[in-house]
Amino acid sequence: MTAQPHIPWPDGKRFAFTIFDDTDHQTLENVPPVYDFLADLGLRTTKSVWPLNGSGQPAIGGLTAEHPDNLAWLKQLQARGFEIALHNATWETSRRADTLRGLDRFRELFGHEPVAFANHAGCREGLYWGDRRLSGWNRLGYNLLTLGRNRGRFQGHEQGSPLFWGDACRERITFVRNFVFRDINTLAACPSMPYHDPDRPYVRYWFAASEGPDVGSFNKTLSEANQDRLSAAGGACIMYTHLASGFYVDGKLNTRFSELLERLAGAGGWFVPVSELLEFLLRRNGHYEISATERKRLERRWLRDKLWIGGSS
Ligand SMILES: [Zn+2]
Repeated sequence: MTAQPHIPWPDGKRFAFTIFDDTDHQTLENVPPVYDFLADLGLRTTKSVWPLNGSGQPAIGGLTAEHPDNLAWLKQLQARGFEIALHNATWETSRRADTLRGLDRFRELFGHEPVAFANHAGCREGLYWGDRRLSGWNRLGYNLLTLGRNRGRFQGHEQGSPLFWGDACRERITFVRNFVFRDINTLAACPSMPYHDPDRPYVRYWFAASEGPDVGSFNKTLSEANQDRLSAAGGACIMYTHLASGFYVDGKLNTRFSELLERLAGAGGWFVPVSELLEFLLRRNGHYEISATERKRLERRWLRDKLWIGGSS
């Protein structure tokens, strides 16, 4: 599939923009003001959650939906039109039964299955994660780059592993996040998204995202020049970030972030949550199976971007 310039976005909008917010480090102090700001601008985005508490001390933690005040806030957010998505059952590795319990709890709390999901870095039940994200020579290159520490580490897709939950993912979740690129125009970097990968059958559809894990890198990707490029190309941007990472500090929104978002909000974009955007693309493109060649191209681009910017996504 080739790039699709000037997709006719709904309501005559010029481009599409949304955010997938990874829930790492979220508290009731550092993130809710960011959502108030996004809502005031007319943006509706996606907030991921952990439905359950873990049992030990998290390497990377944050509030879960078991915290009553946090749950109340998440439900308010959902009522305001934001999407609630899944970021594994909790912040630590879960065995199958716990992952299924997390999925059930999610449905109970938010009234539907999670439509979108992103693997949490520390959870070994991650699906097709670590070196399984790549194929052939690219996998070899990745293992060299990461000194082999992610070789076979993630097992959510491995039938027979106590961490297996691929069948539940395929049944209950529609979109899973994979490669993250430097380009603000996610759709230009990955024109076939959402796509199915026949070599990774437990995921119905994969989507890509644009890099900006904290406020500094987010602002860089959202620069004025990049915004203009996104709009001129009629593209789509799904930012993958952690809204707890520097967007609201000491009672104040990051100034550059608010400037950039105000500018973007006035530029005639289509601002809907991640799943709504992906469902629109899926309706338009139909079911798409990625070819091995196309996949290798994505893998190489991701590896190149990773070498350039580092980071864990
Ligand atoms: Zn995470």
